[in-house]
Amino acid sequence: MTTIAIVGAGFSGTLVALHLLRQCPPGTRIVLIERNHQFGLGQAYATGNPNHLLNVPAGRMSAFHQRPDDFLRWLKTLPKNELDGVAPTADSFAPRRLFGAYMRHLLRMEMQRPAPLARLVLVQGDVVGIDRGMHPLTLHLDHGPPIRAELAVLAVGNFPPAPVPIADPSFYDSPLYRPDPWARDAFTGLDPAAPVLLVGTGLTMVDAAVSLLDQGHLGPIYALSRRGLLPRRHVSGTPPPDTAPSYPTDLTALVRCLRREVAVAAETGGDWRPVIDAMRPFTQDVWQAMSLPDRARFLRHLRPWWEVHRHRMPGPVADRIEQARERRQLRIRAGHIRGFRVEDGMIDVIYRPRGVELTATLLVARVINCAGPGADYDRIADPLVRRLLHEGTARPDALRLGLDVTGTCALRLGTGAISRRIFAVGPVTKAAFWEMTAVPDIRRQCELLAQHLAALVRTPASITAPAATRPSVLTDAI
Ligand SMILES: Cc1cc2nc3c(=O)[nH]c(=O)nc-3n(C[C@H](O)[C@H](O)[C@H](O)COP(=O)(O)OP(=O)(O)OC[C@H]3O[C@@H](n4cnc5c(N)ncnc54)[C@H](O)[C@@H]3O)c2cc1C
Repeated sequence: MTTIAIVGAGFSGTLVALHLLRQCPPGTRIVLIERNHQFGLGQAYATGNPNHLLNVPAGRMSAFHQRPDDFLRWLKTLPKNELDGVAPTADSFAPRRLFGAYMRHLLRMEMQRPAPLARLVLVQGDVVGIDRGMHPLTLHLDHGPPIRAELAVLAVGNFPPAPVPIADPSFYDSPLYRPDPWARDAFTGLDPAAPVLLVGTGLTMVDAAVSLLDQGHLGPIYALSRRGLLPRRHVSGTPPPDTAPSYPTDLTALVRCLRREVAVAAETGGDWRPVIDAMRPFTQDVWQAMSLPDRARFLRHLRPWWEVHRHRMPGPVADRIEQARERRQLRIRAGHIRGFRVEDGMIDVIYRPRGVELTATLLVARVINCAGPGADYDRIADPLVRRLLHEGTARPDALRLGLDVTGTCALRLGTGAISRRIFAVGPVTKAAFWEMTAVPDIRRQCELLAQHLAALVRTPASITAPAATRPSVLTDAI
């Protein structure tokens, strides 16, 4: 029997498992391992807050590239009282928790399907190491017996944001600092009238601001980032003008091309959004064709601009953010954090406003890091990551966007060699593909990776029989 182990059962890991179940030959065993008790949710869809909305319209959130309306169809089967007041239409923005429920529904259906080709085993545990010295691979868990597998897929998702570098980092040990905006305690125990600082002004900050408003926070909410750029709002628009028959792969020429398209759109009464959206099917190709210096230049100078135009806020969320700004509760600041000073249970945030030489101060009761996922693997404290890097099983990519992987998602080892047995999927592969954040991109990647792995399983020379293992099988996890 051949075993494929998948580490992480968020959207990426769950979807790879679903595809493998259909594509692998009979006798293949898929072991899906998740450190949390609930499978199929991951970080993005575990939120119970009905005001945390998807930022992609329901009509584009299917888990399956080939069946684009699958999520929408499922939404339409829900009773009205479960829809949290959202109309199940293609252009509506459903609560993220409903997308999580959809993924769990797909997993449950797959497990109940009579005689699937491969067999799925769910294991609850934290993978702390992968031993590749012997054949098969050995995955070590925080508890329970190790799992042996011929192939492994890392679907470990996003990591908490890295702290802003400051001269005296001891503040980061203070209970007034919350390093992880997704942790349960990020917003608890806060005086509703107290001023708060959210570090970052992207979609993570928007989520955090919504959470604060929902819990009745009345005090000032400061949001600070280098440029103070806020994600733009989604507006359904006209098609883009047909003036760019090709995309240049030189960064300067590409920016010129997009600016020209936006200008033409504006002249003809159109909007910039369709220009950005039209590029989506080509973004990965453009990224891969771009030189490394151009990619680095893009990250240094243009990334924040790209992010706020590309990853936008759904209308109802944008309305709340705008209203909070209008009543001066949410205050966006552009600047560079220089340090924090704690006195009498309050924090002086010392920062240099953008374009100003002198420093300024904000007095707040809590600092929550909402700076977006940490992607520099050299700075990620996760035990599995540390061990993979230490043992040379993986290496960070040159631009510090994630793990170094090939075009077929195989890990590059510390030596640069290409692993034949360990693969990665989802946001951790951003360095190779750039656009690997949202469901429409990840779903295609999962499908292609499953095809590739199924083909490996069918090649007996590359796979040998594993030793028998008895992982704890969870039947009540979904
Ligand atoms: C807050 C947020 C909102 C988003 N909203 C949207 C949206 O509206 N539309 C859209 O298209 N995209 C959205 N995205 C992007 C995208 O859908 C997600 O990033 C995607 O779900 C990534 O899935 P993943 O499985 O790779 O990672 P994750 O969802 O992070 O899942 C990784 C899983 O791996 C587990 N894990 C990690 N390490 C281990 C280990 N060592 N052992 C065992 N288990 C482990 C974790 O517990 C977790 O469950 C959002 C992302 C975030 C963060």
